[in-house]
Amino acid sequence: MSNSKPTSSPVPLLDVNRGNRPLRDQIMASIAEVVDSGRFLHGPQVGELECTVAGICETSQAIACASGSDALLLALMALDIQSGDEVICPSFTFFATASAVSRLGAIPVFVDIDPKTYNLCPDEVAANVTSRTKAIIPVHLFGQCASMDKICAIGARHRIPIIEDAAQAIGAKYQDKPAGSWGDIGCLSFYPTKNLGGMGDGGMMVCNNQITSAKLRLLASHGMQPRYYHKLVGINSRLDTIQAAILNVKIAHLQKYAEKRASHAQRYAELFAGEGLSEYFELPYQTPEAVHVWNQYSIRVPDGLRDPLRKHLTDMGIGSEVYYPVPLHLQECFHDLGYFVGTLPKTERASREILNLPIYPELTEQEQDTVVAGIKRFYAAASSSKAA
Ligand SMILES: *Cc1c(COP(=O)(O)O)cnc(C)c1O
Repeated sequence: MSNSKPTSSPVPLLDVNRGNRPLRDQIMASIAEVVDSGRFLHGPQVGELECTVAGICETSQAIACASGSDALLLALMALDIQSGDEVICPSFTFFATASAVSRLGAIPVFVDIDPKTYNLCPDEVAANVTSRTKAIIPVHLFGQCASMDKICAIGARHRIPIIEDAAQAIGAKYQDKPAGSWGDIGCLSFYPTKNLGGMGDGGMMVCNNQITSAKLRLLASHGMQPRYYHKLVGINSRLDTIQAAILNVKIAHLQKYAEKRASHAQRYAELFAGEGLSEYFELPYQTPEAVHVWNQYSIRVPDGLRDPLRKHLTDMGIGSEVYYPVPLHLQECFHDLGYFVGTLPKTERASREILNLPIYPELTEQEQDTVVAGIKRFYAAASSSKAA
């Protein structure tokens, strides 16, 4: 394990430039158009992007905002989530899923995951519904949808609205229905590492209800209508016209990007199986009901070998990441909620075992071979040191 000097060029976890470079001229032209128009907010490019995203999500409404985090906050505000309300969400997710809940004084109720998909376990959701539950936020982690049929059925049974955190899952589907279109409101992010990544922050909310849509729009603009008359206490959360113009260029390629990610995922699976490595760690599980868009390619490395493997890859110049090392129920800021180690065993185990490997549309076969060879060397060294 010690002689892990780089033998080939480094493989970055993600290289956004490779996706953006071929579109540079088009992107620069679209930025110039905004600069010349002087309409830096509410330019027509924002509405154009909203239309395209609504088309992808198969929703009648789409409302741009400043980030995926704001989309979640605005969605909860639109549903009138109040101080003391309970909102069921996973702990195995990015912080924004739960911070939006806390920001409103509401209580995130963290429930455990299905260990195969890392998504909310519907039975755990059902078991945690109380008379105070005012929303459920399933997250479509890594680009694969949660069990939306079951989660929506629970919501319908108890009249609890569903907010989908689809930040990692634009274009994903579950039973042929797009991510974002299952719940009452779907939230998207255009953070640069997402499948539709901007050049800065950006987000969007999608829904099928015109009243909800109008409320989301009002809340995102200080609850102001008409100018200087405030109906609600909202926030200021807008998508810059420049950002929309950039995203309009990139969104034309989204489907192709997703197909490339899926073919890389398929090839990883073949390479790992071909090298006899799939017995050492778990490959990502794909539910037959889902169209996975592979925002992340995550393996599950048991036996305490995740961190040594990650170190070995880092030493070889191969990028990897741990999404997420500390589940939200064990975060310092949520200490007062009263969770402790052992409360959500499946989530905690995933945090110890997950390892995210490079996957992005422009990843080359050679780079993939390097990643697989690096992992192979790790296990070869691990088993020979065990034998010795
Ligand atoms: C990225 C992300 C967000 C937040 O999106 P931002 O645009 O970065 O604010 C929320 N939830 C999940 C699951 C995410 O991955």
